[in-house]
This record gives sequence, C-alpha cells and structure tokens, in this order.
Amino acid sequence: MSKRLSPRQKAAIEESERVRLYRRMALRAQGFMCFYCWEPLSHIAATADHLIARARRGKTTYDNIRAACARCNNLKGTLHWREFMRLIERADMWDAPEFWLIKAERRLWGATWESCGRIAAYAGVSAPAAVLGVHQI
Ligand SMILES: [Zn+2]
Repeated sequence: MSKRLSPRQKAAIEESERVRLYRRMALRAQGFMCFYCWEPLSHIAATADHLIARARRGKTTYDNIRAACARCNNLKGTLHWREFMRLIERADMWDAPEFWLIKAERRLWGATWESCGRIAAYAGVSAPAAVLGVHQI
C-alpha cells in the first residue's frame, strides 16, 4: 500500500536527490578530492557540503554544494566556508589541532598531486583527476 506524499515530503525527497546529484558533479569537478583537505575522495565517502550552510539560509544549488570528506564537513558545521578556511589557514597545532591537521593535509596532498602531475607529464600519460582540481581555493 503506497502512501501519498505531502508537498513537503515531496520537496524533501527532491532536495535530497538534488544534493546527491550536485555532490557527484562537484566531486568530479574537484578531481575526486575533498574541497577542504584535498585528500582523495570516492563517491561513496563523499559528503555534500553547503558552502553557505542551510542553517544560514544557504540553498541547495550546484554553486553552493561542494564534495567534502565527512571529517571536514562535520568540523565545518554551519560555518561559512570562508570562515572555515580562515580557521584552517590560521590554525596552530596546539590551539586548534583539528584545523591544523587539515592545513597539514592540504600541504601534503597539494605536494602529492603536483608530483603526480609532473610524473604523468614526464611519462606522457593523462594526469590523475586530483591534479586537475588542486588549488581551487
Ligand atoms: Zn576533507
């Protein structure tokens, strides 16, 4: 027996489908890495991050969705993405170790993706997807 959905329920389903679609599109555009820490990210592990959180009236639009790992997404919470990036950039290992760790990972993965790009260019093969998406922010 099927139950009729209320307009509100329908809207919620449509929203979750859009979130899933935009997350997949963002992940591809980002070269299959987390928008914040740049670690490799699969479709299964990726979460949809609202750059401007829904709690702050951020919309579920393609422009407002990025793919992020669960750790970064949870840590960001309802922060505006620029505030979150500022906290990462200014993080000190002792005062904000969780943010500092992301900063350290960006350095690590940034160097890794650059090396992969150079090796791929030298070998004459196409660069890994992450090489193309690095340095977006
Ligand atoms: Zn991350």
